[in-house]
Amino acid sequence: MEKRAKVRRLRRAPKKWPCPKCGALARRFAFRSREAVDAELGRPAILRVKVGLYKARCGCQAVFESFHPELPKGWRFSRTVRDLVVRAVVRDKLSVEDVRQRLREDFLVELSEGCVHNWLAEAGEKNRLGS
Ligand SMILES: [Zn+2]
Repeated sequence: MEKRAKVRRLRRAPKKWPCPKCGALARRFAFRSREAVDAELGRPAILRVKVGLYKARCGCQAVFESFHPELPKGWRFSRTVRDLVVRAVVRDKLSVEDVRQRLREDFLVELSEGCVHNWLAEAGEKNRLGS
């Protein structure tokens, strides 16, 4: 039988959030719920993050939203999923194909090959910059 997805909820929607361009604080005027694929052994999982929408008064950009470090803007998979993948390749020395199979079988997460390569490239970039 299909198991129900486990939902992990996070929230990052303070009253004020800095403008991504100039850093001026903007005021929250609404909330938004963002979703991504998460990793949980043996069952499907969803990460749901409540973020804030902010109206800029600095003139850079009309509206922007906050984000949780577990789910930066534009990500379709949580940081937990990315870390699993990067660790499996870097530490456990698995091939990209083996990593995809592990995620599929153990976490029921389906990943494209390109996706895995992108994450590895980004992780390598970060290490080079020492951050
Ligand atoms: Zn600004």
